[in-house]
Amino acid sequence: MKKSKFSSLSLSTKSIHGKHPHAFKGPVTFPIYQTSTYRFENSNDAIRYAHGDSNVLVYTRYHNPTVNEVEDRIALMEDGEAAALFSSGMAAISTTILSLCKSGNEIVSTPALYGGTYRFFRDTLPNYDITVKYVDPNSLEDLMYLITPKTKLVYLETPTNPTLSLIDIEKLVKLTRKMEKEFRKKITIVIDNTFATILNQKPFDFGVDVIVESSTKYLGGHADLMGGVVIGMKKFIGQVKELAKHLGGCADPFAAFLLDRSLKTFELRIQRQNENAFALAKALEKHPKVSRVIYPSLPSHPHHKLAKKQMSGFGGMVTIEVKGGVKGAVKVCDSLKVAVNAMSLGGVETLVSIPVYSSHVKMSKDELAKHGVTPGMIRISVGVEGIKDLIEDFEQALRKL
Ligand code: PLP
Repeated sequence: MKKSKFSSLSLSTKSIHGKHPHAFKGPVTFPIYQTSTYRFENSNDAIRYAHGDSNVLVYTRYHNPTVNEVEDRIALMEDGEAAALFSSGMAAISTTILSLCKSGNEIVSTPALYGGTYRFFRDTLPNYDITVKYVDPNSLEDLMYLITPKTKLVYLETPTNPTLSLIDIEKLVKLTRKMEKEFRKKITIVIDNTFATILNQKPFDFGVDVIVESSTKYLGGHADLMGGVVIGMKKFIGQVKELAKHLGGCADPFAAFLLDRSLKTFELRIQRQNENAFALAKALEKHPKVSRVIYPSLPSHPHHKLAKKQMSGFGGMVTIEVKGGVKGAVKVCDSLKVAVNAMSLGGVETLVSIPVYSSHVKMSKDELAKHGVTPGMIRISVGVEGIKDLIEDFEQALRKL
């Protein structure tokens, strides 16, 4: 297993002192600038803004101190030059893609994606003449054929949702760079790091260019906010922010404030969720009513070796397949008392969802097979509850099968 870079609470307290006027005095918690617009001292401010002075605050869709505070903190935390915060993960993803691609361009992606991203690729991008091709993660060498001079970006998600299969990031980057050299043009590699988070997987260490994340999930961690983030080089984030002004997916100051609060416990939550997930996975693996448990740190996981190579922790997501197909999955989800039957993931409460009724709706049998999704699957986003309570809860629910 890769050694975790964050051995203490350094992550949540990483200093941004000196970057904002409240750093050494005033409130401990950064305040919410809950405003859509800003008072000019006099019209000179407006004139400065009109002449391109970016220090003049004018409108929250362009900039907001609370939002910018969180962006700085996340960039620092994730070892990126800059970050842009959005109203949702999908706003972050779609704005990133559209800032990189124009009509006629191609994207090469790994196939098992979050359903929303997959449907954006399948249903929306073709309307803008942007084509998405999919590479088999077990034959990454095919990138040599799939990448063409029209390819602008390679997009990947690992671990995947909900099957938690892994893609070899190092290999994908190496092959993409080879093609980049051949065609003498930049191919941007974008990873959705929502499932792992920066504490369990550090994509920039492998040469990935851009990280996108739904901050609705682990970064937010309390099921009380929507958000998305893009992290990368300053120049690129500048381009993303320019497009965001047009597309309008800017973060709301209150959501940014809640996210700032969440970052303070990020490392604590992730550590506990990693531990709980492993303990629950081990317990369920022995259960006679559970036909399969998918968790990257279990030796039974098909990509266990790769998980140890590229992850520093294995995350809070566990997927199980119960006996009795979708009816069995429904019975278990409806019988849980501690775990909550709800969509989404990454919060302090354990949530369960049935992929064929949630993330993977509106997909054909063929598409489901490609994503590795089966009817009896239950995706568990493991929270921070007492592990004994959680295991007992699943045991009593499985007894109802
Ligand atoms: N990426 C992944 C891996 C997700 O699971 C999700 C949502 O579930 C998203 C992106 C989209 O995020 P949001 O719902 O915040 O738009």
